[in-house]
Amino acid sequence: MKTFLKKVAAQSPWLYRINAGSCNGCDVELATTACISRYDVERLGCKYCGSPKHADIVLITGPMTTRVKEKVLRLYAEIPDPKVTVAVGICPISCGVFRDSYAIEGPIDKYFPVDINVPGCPPRPQAIIEGIAEAISVWRTRL
Ligand code: SF4
Repeated sequence: MKTFLKKVAAQSPWLYRINAGSCNGCDVELATTACISRYDVERLGCKYCGSPKHADIVLITGPMTTRVKEKVLRLYAEIPDPKVTVAVGICPISCGVFRDSYAIEGPIDKYFPVDINVPGCPPRPQAIIEGIAEAISVWRTRL
């Protein structure tokens, strides 16, 4: 039975978004993957969920500001293993244009492992979808 459930669940990972202090540019592009049919990730068999405890794949935007760092780490810790982490935009990858700011504590791979990088400022929806498709493949190998 357990194997059967794993097999079924493998068809439908749930996504969760964390904003680690982004300018919202990446989040606007991410929003298109939830509400514009052409880019909707539900076509890949997955959907966004409202709780980190239900998530399989986490999408993180922003350079990890001092203000949100503790909350981001707490949310991340609540996501059950095996989780796959996707850095969306150049900010979580290298802090981007905010790199030398006193208020920045990223990049995020200082705090947890990142499986997929989707660079861009912001990345286009097509690139985000490609990153999610890759994340789904990685996640299935971990089940
Ligand atoms: S990568 Fe660019 S668009 Fe995305 S949060 Fe950073 S500055 Fe904003």
